[in-house]
Amino acid sequence: MRPSILFPLFADIKTLPGLGPKIAALVERAAGPHLVDLLWHMPTGLVDRRFSPAIADAPEGAVVTLRVRVAEHFPSRRRGMPYKVRCEDASGEIDLVYFHAKGDYLEKLLPVGADRVVSGKIERYRDGVQMPHPDHVAPPEQFEAIATVEPTYGLTAGLSPKVLVKAIKAAVAKAPELPEWADKNLVAQRGWPSWRTALTQAHAPKENSDTQPGTVVRSRLAYDELFANQLALALVRARDRRRPGRSVKGDGRLRDKVLAALPFKLTGSQTVALSEILGDMGAPGRMQRLLQGDVGSGKTVVAFLAMLTAIEAGYQAALMAPTEILARQHYETILPLAEAAGIEVAVLTGRDKGKVKQATIERLAAGQISVVVGTHALFEDDVAFDNLGLAVIDEQHRFGVHQRVAFAAKGASEEGGVDTLIMTATPIPRTLVMCAYGDMDVSKLTEKPPGRKPIKTVALPLERMDEVVERVRALIDKGARVYWVCPLVDESEIIDLAAATERYADLTARFGEARVHLIHGKLKPTQKDAAMDAFVNGPPGVLVATTVIEVGVNVPSATVMVIEHAERFGLAQLHQLRGRVGRGAAESSCVLLYGQPLGQTAKARLEILRETEDGFRIAEKDLELRGAGEVLGTKQSGLPQFRLADLAEHADLLEIARDDARVLLEADPTLETPRGKAVRTLLYLFERDAAFKLARTG
Ligand code: ADP
Ligand code: MG
Repeated sequence: MRPSILFPLFADIKTLPGLGPKIAALVERAAGPHLVDLLWHMPTGLVDRRFSPAIADAPEGAVVTLRVRVAEHFPSRRRGMPYKVRCEDASGEIDLVYFHAKGDYLEKLLPVGADRVVSGKIERYRDGVQMPHPDHVAPPEQFEAIATVEPTYGLTAGLSPKVLVKAIKAAVAKAPELPEWADKNLVAQRGWPSWRTALTQAHAPKENSDTQPGTVVRSRLAYDELFANQLALALVRARDRRRPGRSVKGDGRLRDKVLAALPFKLTGSQTVALSEILGDMGAPGRMQRLLQGDVGSGKTVVAFLAMLTAIEAGYQAALMAPTEILARQHYETILPLAEAAGIEVAVLTGRDKGKVKQATIERLAAGQISVVVGTHALFEDDVAFDNLGLAVIDEQHRFGVHQRVAFAAKGASEEGGVDTLIMTATPIPRTLVMCAYGDMDVSKLTEKPPGRKPIKTVALPLERMDEVVERVRALIDKGARVYWVCPLVDESEIIDLAAATERYADLTARFGEARVHLIHGKLKPTQKDAAMDAFVNGPPGVLVATTVIEVGVNVPSATVMVIEHAERFGLAQLHQLRGRVGRGAAESSCVLLYGQPLGQTAKARLEILRETEDGFRIAEKDLELRGAGEVLGTKQSGLPQFRLADLAEHADLLEIARDDARVLLEADPTLETPRGKAVRTLLYLFERDAAFKLARTG
């Protein structure tokens, strides 16, 4: 149960005075649904309203707070003309200018003859002075309250800054003093104020520099968030360690068959990774291992060989992928290998329904199926295993820690101490691995399979589209299969879709229908299959796609990747997309089409892609260019999104938080000591309590 001291902070924002449903919806969009979300909404800058000159001395462009008397109203004479309220002081006159204002509202707000405090930006108009849409209009006794430094916050369309500032202020006022959860020495050494003081100060910046993430108070708050994150991960991990695992040892008979059937030899790092995994499986504890490797580095094969060991030992194995396409692809990759080994494989995704699904579920429960490949559908209640021994989760950045914790909780009853292997396409730097996985054991695939040729990468302006289309035509005439990825616009699927559909129509007109296929997230699964099938098995042609293909399609015969508006994609995403080609023995190329003008960052991104294919280097560069906040913030990442911590800025705090979490939990694994209890409050505050519950029940 959430500690009662935190109840007020988890109230709905609608309970704040002055937030009706409409405005509350806007505030929710900007910050979140609960008061606590307002606390985490940090100022991005400030407005200084302390300057209070006489009207005659108010400089153009300055934000000022004036004491005035209302002189006269000039209602709008025509549509489109503003309503003006003339005000004066001893030095001169100023017009408050309102577009689309209601007269009766303004008459109440600014009655003729009344004294008022007005604050806003000064403009010159003809020879007069004016203040369009003052930010504040109030009776004179509120001068002190208005003529201060006011924080500014990220807004959403239609939300007035005043409303948000007020809501946040009200939320901050409700923040209670909480017991200290951080290590005393750390607090002393860094000169950190208490959580509540830090929060209050963070929302009351005095200088612009106070709104930077590196300040003492912001660091304290960032640490708290990172500490909560690391504690949650450590709790889940500790629980996993405590759970009795099984020693899963195979005799190698299936593995040897498959190794003999593979048309290639494992790379050195595949061999090392496999032996690390088998070592964990053979040990009595529960495996929690991350298999990290760049796109195309051959993770699936390694995972499958590990699955065979589980089967040799009499267990079943499951492979879960984040998308339907990927699940099907894994299934198809595995099928021939499974045949070589003589084992039963099935696929189970959201699309499987009715009798077929029922039959799969029954055979799975009866232990007749050795390997099942699927999506989230595998976690449904009616799916049960006879004897699951290894769960492989192909993550490709799509599942977050929260989901994983949820899976673990769900799997607890069904799966017991199942060994878990998580596959992730790199390029995530060490810091981010730590945030997403905590102290997981890591195996890395550092080499690419031999024989891969470098992907020739060029960047061209969109103006040269026609040229590119002609090049593509020449290439498909020679038998190439080409991906054509359409831009991500505004993170809106509908707009993405429009762009892809348009490009599809355009290319169809040029190359003919048989040679162009379209795939996007809104297609029905069978339509997606049909498009993929036509692309892979039909005559050489083009697959026009939104970013759905990013998540790991494996079409070794595809050799060209065209990315339209490449400047709109993140670096990691571009790297992932490019990794779709260069998977076979043939020469591959990637064309990055960019819109102009190209910003500094976008230019640097395209530059690094042309320079290297090394996922780690690209990832580090990405972090440097965008800041971790953004790397983590992308919806696609599936990595935790921090609201206070900025990993580029607070990487040192992350390491400290990890160590603190470890030390604390070693001494007090169930959080019973006074500090442990304070830490529980922290976990609830950051909504990481699922991990805590799990740790106690597990
Ligand atoms: P990942 O999952 O890491 O992106 P995959 O496991 O899908 O990579 O492998 C990509 C391709 O490389 C597949 O076609 C696979 O058969 C092939 N492959 C894997 N390991 C090797 C190897 N050691 N030598 C040659 N080809 C390999
Ligand atoms: Mg793969």
